Amino acid sequence: MEGTRIRIHTPKTLGELGQLYQKKPKAILYAGGTYLLSHYNEINPFTGDIISLERIDEMRRLNRTERYFEIGATVPIPFILNTGSSYLPKCLVNCLQQIGPIAIQSQATLGGNLCVKTMHCDSLAVLLALGARLELRKGRQSRWIHLSQLIDSEGQLDFKEGEFLVRIRFPLEEWDKQSFIKLGQPYQLERREYVLCNLIKVDKNVIMDIRLALTQGTHKSIRIRNLEAQLKGKKVPLGTKDIKILEQETAIALDFPTNTSSGDLRRIHQIYKNLFRQLQD
Ligand SMILES: Cc1cc2nc3c(=O)[nH]c(=O)nc-3n(C[C@H](O)[C@H](O)[C@H](O)COP(=O)(O)OP(=O)(O)OC[C@H]3O[C@@H](n4cnc5c(N)ncnc54)[C@H](O)[C@@H]3O)c2cc1C
Repeated sequence: MEGTRIRIHTPKTLGELGQLYQKKPKAILYAGGTYLLSHYNEINPFTGDIISLERIDEMRRLNRTERYFEIGATVPIPFILNTGSSYLPKCLVNCLQQIGPIAIQSQATLGGNLCVKTMHCDSLAVLLALGARLELRKGRQSRWIHLSQLIDSEGQLDFKEGEFLVRIRFPLEEWDKQSFIKLGQPYQLERREYVLCNLIKVDKNVIMDIRLALTQGTHKSIRIRNLEAQLKGKKVPLGTKDIKILEQETAIALDFPTNTSSGDLRRIHQIYKNLFRQLQD
């Protein structure tokens, strides 16, 4: 960035941030900075304006009601874990605990993790599975939107120009089975292909709810809704015939080549097979 003068802005309220970012929509929003500092050279175009989010108290709050949990976009991950790990969903706790080495994790925020544009970071699959909603703000206006609705056809979060994330909200529900799995090299996001989050709720031997979310590298981020729909309402244990059909459906839903040589794809297929088999026991 030779020759570019850096201007750091430190708004203290959401109102100030809204106005500033609307005027300078190409500015870089800086939360924990752990992703930004490690990808500094790739930021393009870099206009020289950096907006630090750290002084805005409204974005650094956690809130819990009987029905939902809210996490401000700039709450540091260790604070979320220390304050909420006894009642947060296990899949989210597992996900946050595995973000980066400790030096990175201590600075990182959940909002920053979700808003990385060039790749899908780990929390996206979990928040998709949990049915998270996001509060976004542009200027003085804010709107709530389901995370799944914010994802465009390329699998990217579709913020409007000058819009930013204020907080993340998800319902507090009991899940009987929760899993969070990431495949790839630890701490080498670029080489990680897949993150999976599966949630299952069973009551009186009937699958009441099931969420199967998966993100892949830079583009795919989905809930596998046709599989979810097939499983919802089914009695457990599942029959052998059911399992066979589900396995075939999984391959179709995930667009697997039938004789794939990719180790990750085979592992993913196996993960779903194991999940269905658990519902057979
Ligand atoms: C060594 C190393 C290991 C890592 N390991 C992992 C890992 O295992 N898993 C993983 O998921 N990530 C990993 N990361 C990436 C990164 O550290 C995390 O994703 C982290 O959670 C990002 O949060 P942050 O607060 O530091 O974001 P920042 O770096 O501050 O911002 C990230 C992006 O989000 C934008 N942004 C931030 N806040 C907002 C907001 N409120 N509204 C709109 N846009 C916003 C920023 O402009 C930027 O583009 C790793 C990074 C390093 C350097």
